[in-house]
Amino acid sequence: MSTAVNETLIRDVVAEVLGRIGGATTTATQSAPASAAPKSDSCGCSAKKATSAPALRGKFGVFATAEEACAAAQEAFVQLQQKGVAARRKIEEIVKAMAEKNAEPWGKIEFEETKIGRLDHKIAKLGLIKLVPGVDWLRPDARSGDHGITLEEYTPFGVVGAITPSTHSIPTLSGNIVNIVAAGNAVVFNAHPSAAKCAAVAVRAYNEAIFRETGIENIACIIEKPTLDSFNALCKNENTRLLLVTGGPMVVKAAMQTGKRAICAGPGNPPVFVDDTCCPTRAAKAIISGAAFDNNLLCIGEKQVFVLDSVADRLMQRMSENGAVKLNPAQLASLTKAAFTIKEGQGGGCAQAHTNKDFIGKDTSVLAQAAGINLPADTQLLFGETDANHPFVKEEQMMPMIPIVRVKSVEEGIALSLQSEHGYKHTAIIHSHDVENITAMARALDTTLFVKNGPSPAGLGLGGEGYLSFSIATPTGEGITNPRTFTRVRRCVMVDNLRIY
Ligand code: NAD
Repeated sequence: MSTAVNETLIRDVVAEVLGRIGGATTTATQSAPASAAPKSDSCGCSAKKATSAPALRGKFGVFATAEEACAAAQEAFVQLQQKGVAARRKIEEIVKAMAEKNAEPWGKIEFEETKIGRLDHKIAKLGLIKLVPGVDWLRPDARSGDHGITLEEYTPFGVVGAITPSTHSIPTLSGNIVNIVAAGNAVVFNAHPSAAKCAAVAVRAYNEAIFRETGIENIACIIEKPTLDSFNALCKNENTRLLLVTGGPMVVKAAMQTGKRAICAGPGNPPVFVDDTCCPTRAAKAIISGAAFDNNLLCIGEKQVFVLDSVADRLMQRMSENGAVKLNPAQLASLTKAAFTIKEGQGGGCAQAHTNKDFIGKDTSVLAQAAGINLPADTQLLFGETDANHPFVKEEQMMPMIPIVRVKSVEEGIALSLQSEHGYKHTAIIHSHDVENITAMARALDTTLFVKNGPSPAGLGLGGEGYLSFSIATPTGEGITNPRTFTRVRRCVMVDNLRIY
C-alpha cells in the first residue's frame, strides 16, 4: 500500500471513529444542534418517509391497534437513527422537563383514574424523572494494543414493547421513554387498562412536543385501549424486537412465554430485618417513610418487619411517636378479614389468601375504618404485631399497613425474611450496625436491591447514592434499568492501526 493510500484510509477512519466518540460523549448541557431539526429540507428522504403512511400521521403516538402503533414506532426509530444522538438528547430533555412541569396535572389525572396511592406522592414521582439516566450513560468501551484499536458500542434494537403497571403508570412510561430512546430505540406501550387514559394523555403530549422539536412524530406509541389481545399482538409484531414488562407474576410469566427476549421488572415483597445494634428512631422513621410512600404501592416498599425481641418494643414505640398507629389484635383481625379472602387449601394444601383489590393503595383512614377505628386523614402508616404466617406478611399487600414479627435470633430474622420474599430477589432492607449481620442477610436474601439503615427509596437514588428507574428488572437480572439495558453490544475492530503511541 502506498503512503498516500495509507493517509487517506487513516484520515477516513479517524474521522469516523471521532464522529462516533464525539456523538456518544457530548455533554447533556449542550442544546440540540440543527441536525435535531427535521431534515425535510435536505435530501428529502425523511420527508418521503413521513408521508409514506398517512394513517400514522396526526396521532402523536396514540393508536387503536398494536399493528398501527408498531408500524409508527418502527418508522420513528428509522427517523431517530437519521437524526442522530442530538435528537435522542433533545427527546430526553423534553421528557424530563415535561414530566416535572406537568407533575401536578398528570399526577391528578392518574390519581383520579386509578384511585390508588396518594396524590402528593403521585405528583412527587413525576418530579423525579430527571433522575433517570440518559444519553450520557452510554459510553463506548475501547481497547487499544499492538494490533490496533477496537470499539464496543451500545446500539439500539429498534422497537421495544413495554407493559406498564397500574401502580405508577405515567412515571413508569416516562422513565421508560428516557431510557429506551436514549439508547436509540422507539417504544410501544400496552398500559394497565385501569391506568391507560392518563398514560395516553402523557404519550400524546410528549409526542407533540418531540415532533415540534425534532420532526419525529411517534417515538413513543401507546395502544389506546389495552387488552390481553393487544398485549399478544404487540409481543407478536415483527417490529417488536424486545419486551420490557413492569408488573406482577402473571405478566412476567406471559412475557416469558412469548418467545421474544423479555426484560422483566417483576413483583416484590420486601422484608425488613431490625437487630439490636440499630438506632430504633432512625429505623422507625425509615420504615414509616418507605412503607407510607404512595400508600405502599411501590414494589420496593417495606412490606413486613422482622425485629429482634430485645428491641421490638422500642422500635414500635418510636414508630408510634413518629406518625404510625398501632392496631390492637382485635382491630388487626377485623382489617385482615376485610383486606383478604382466605380460601381453604384443597386436598390437604395450605389456606391461600387473596388480597382484596378494594384496599390496595388506599389511605390509612380507609383501612382504619375496616379495623373499626377512626383516624385522622394524615395518619402515615398502620402497624400491628403478627406471626410470620400472617397474610400481611406473605402477600404483597400494597397497603399502608405493616406487620411486625418478633424473632428470637438474627438467624431466625434472616430466615423468615428470606421466606417472606418468596425468591423474587427484588428488595430487602436491614437496620443494623453489625457488619456481620448485614453481610449475612445480603448473602442469604440475594436481592437486586439491598438497603442498609435507610428507607427503601434510598435504593433508587432518593436519599441514597444512585440513579432512578421505576422498572427494576428482577427475575431476568438486568437490575435497575438504564439506557444500556436496551442496547445490543456491537464490536468494531481496526487491525494494526490507529493506536497512537
Ligand atoms: P399487574 O401484574 O396486574 O399488571 C401489570 C401490567 O401487566 C398491566 O399492564 C397489566 O395489564 C398487564 N398484565 C397483567 N396480567 C397479564 C397477562 N396475563 N398477560 C398480559 N398482560 C398482563 O400489576 P399492577 O397491579 O399493575 O402492578 C403491581 C405489580 O407490579 C406488583 O407485583 C409490583 O411489585 C410490580 N411492580 C414491579 C416493578 C419493578 O420494577 N420490579 C415496578 C412496579 C410494579
